[in-house]
Amino acid sequence: MERLGSLKARILGLIIIVCLIACGGEEKSPSKNQNKRKVERKKVERPNFSSDSTYAFIQKQVDFGPRVPNTKAHVEAGNYLAAKLKSYQLEVIEQEAQVVAFDNTKLNIKNIIGIYKPELNNRVLLFAHWDSRPFADNDDERQREPIMAANDGGSGVAILLEIARQTQIVKPNIGVDIIFFDAEDYVDNSGSIEDYCLGSQYWAKNLHKEGYTANFGILLDMVGAKNALFGKEFNSMKYASAYVNLVWNIAADLGHQQHFDPRPTRHVGIDDHVYVNEIANIPSIDIIQYDPATRSFAPHWHTHDDNMDVIDKATLQAVGETVWAAVLEEGK
Ligand SMILES: [Zn+2]
Repeated sequence: MERLGSLKARILGLIIIVCLIACGGEEKSPSKNQNKRKVERKKVERPNFSSDSTYAFIQKQVDFGPRVPNTKAHVEAGNYLAAKLKSYQLEVIEQEAQVVAFDNTKLNIKNIIGIYKPELNNRVLLFAHWDSRPFADNDDERQREPIMAANDGGSGVAILLEIARQTQIVKPNIGVDIIFFDAEDYVDNSGSIEDYCLGSQYWAKNLHKEGYTANFGILLDMVGAKNALFGKEFNSMKYASAYVNLVWNIAADLGHQQHFDPRPTRHVGIDDHVYVNEIANIPSIDIIQYDPATRSFAPHWHTHDDNMDVIDKATLQAVGETVWAAVLEEGK
């Protein structure tokens, strides 16, 4: 009994030691677990966002015709966009200017800025270009005629109009600035890279409010086409990779991995966010349709096929609720 008891005790002791060694890694370091818990981000909630309303906002822009600077449709569409932002109780600044295009045409442009809760310092900047391209240079025909630009222009603006509408429903405690930049696309292949993005270049050098800044910026460009893929864009990763990862994680939380591709894309050119990063010093990302596998924009890019037929509500929903969730998270 004595020996057995002693053996039992030894075995028990051995089991305890083995268990301490085997289980110790997890049991003895509660602080490590706590740290792990801290860095684990809570899944974001799905915000209300209407792709029906967004689709109608694209249709409305297209109904004006091509929104090419120095045309009647451009003036009318610009007035509509400013009035729409005002109707959602945003403070609106219409920043008018004259800029010189690649072919020396003087363009009368207007950046349209909608400001939600101007009194707050905690702010997020959302932007898209509202002008449409005067050429269809990638088309087989009518190459010198303007395109409808339902996707390349219309889709980003429409999502931001819907977010403006949602601010009045949700009333989040964060400042939101929505900027529709003009003259992003008024240049053909004879121009240089600096001839793109004339509206955002002007704004970055002439901020609508002295000392204006925001925590981060999100640019939407070609965000409404069916089965669109958004790779992690080169300049976004260069200037604001933390925000790219944040937005892509939110998209994953909401189940939109089929659109938000985790692969980085190569340099695809200059877009409005480059000047917002470089001149206005606001870390900004670009959600832009670009397929990392085929290394190309959509087939309808800069053609007459960029019309309502390419627009898909599922894509608008995925991008819209992801961006809106990112804004609401920043306000928590
Ligand atoms: Zn374009």
